[in-house]
Amino acid sequence: MTAPKPKISGTSDGAETANMKTLNVGLNDRSYPIYIGQNLLARAPALLSDCFARKKTVIITDANVAAAHLNTLSAAFKTAGFTCDEITLEPGEPTKSFSALEQLCDQLLVAGIERDDTLIAFGGGVIGDLAGFAAAILRRGVKFVQIPTTLLAQVDSSVGGKTGINSKHGKNLIGAFYQPLAVLADISLLDTLPKRQFLSGYAEVVKYGVLGDADFFSWLEHNQQKIMDGDKSARIKMVETCCKAKADIVALDEREAGVRALLNLGHTFGHSLEAATNFSDRLTHGEGVAIGMVMACKLSEQLKLCPQATADRVVSHLQEVGLPAGLNDVPGDLPNAENLLDIMRQDKKAVAGEMALILINKIGDAFSTRDVEEDVLKTFLGKQLELK
Ligand code: NAD
Repeated sequence: MTAPKPKISGTSDGAETANMKTLNVGLNDRSYPIYIGQNLLARAPALLSDCFARKKTVIITDANVAAAHLNTLSAAFKTAGFTCDEITLEPGEPTKSFSALEQLCDQLLVAGIERDDTLIAFGGGVIGDLAGFAAAILRRGVKFVQIPTTLLAQVDSSVGGKTGINSKHGKNLIGAFYQPLAVLADISLLDTLPKRQFLSGYAEVVKYGVLGDADFFSWLEHNQQKIMDGDKSARIKMVETCCKAKADIVALDEREAGVRALLNLGHTFGHSLEAATNFSDRLTHGEGVAIGMVMACKLSEQLKLCPQATADRVVSHLQEVGLPAGLNDVPGDLPNAENLLDIMRQDKKAVAGEMALILINKIGDAFSTRDVEEDVLKTFLGKQLELK
């Protein structure tokens, strides 16, 4: 087994002005800032001024985000003297498709986007992934910034440069590593996010604690009520800690050759559940991650890799905030262990048919392994399904 350990400090290493935190993703000449704070949309043209070669941009968003926040962002850029076009797409995962990508690229070309121009991806992970990929391929690469509007996008998908769309063969199979010029995470935008979507992002937040930062996990246990109630400084600290962890990991391993794989904690199990429920409303991505993370903890316990009751602690926290934590929380029937295992084998992180699992030694200490025998995994899955 390999046991690379992430270095996650959970503290800001950047500037701090009037409640705004600035972090840095250290990738040499492709390094970029992450700004985290509240009510930042009006300040976006000033904060992002270095990202634009001329005063022209296109904001790419979805209809839900547009209804709640597009006017504010667009007005800020227009007031700052920008020509600012807007492209509003259908909300939801189907928008990460070839047809939506083609349409978007055509619209961007019609809008006169040139090589030196900078696009704005203004939305959740769907818009960030699609717009980022469009930026990577349009005119062989135009620039883009991320203004993430979901918790999942603020703590995870907007940072690190993974962009892409889905194929009929699976999720995220067509894409590119393409870093933004900056990320602006305005936590005020989360006020309009539906609760289920907020919790979905919170599963990824908990993941950072379980995989590399035990103190952060304890902090979440003590501060979850404030976070759920919308306390701004707690939310800023939460987003900042996650972004710092992700920035550190991406700086070490941009292309997921090693330590970045730890961010997949809960994802191999979770992804098989998402696929088994046809990527439908039965289970969001984050809900799959929450259950998958618990399964990773339980398997680690069964293999005597981590202390007993570790999974119980994670389950308690997830249940307290209202996240699902076990297979019995997935509505409807699930396939049998062999079928779930089949889906796991197709995971794109598999190498030569061997799947990679992220397991834990204890909360805050995860590692990647390809050493778990399929028989062991199948028996484990069977036992978990019996509990349903
Ligand atoms: P999403 O983009 O579909 O957003 C979820 C829903 O919330 C949508 O209906 C959206 O319209 C709505 N919404 C967004 N912001 C809102 C706001 N402020 N107020 C009200 N409604 C709002 O989903 P997501 O969970 O943000 O992202 C999921 C996607 O991210 C998946 O496609 C996944 O593959 C991808 N992802 C990418 C990475 C990466 O590193 N690139 C990492 C994790 C996930």
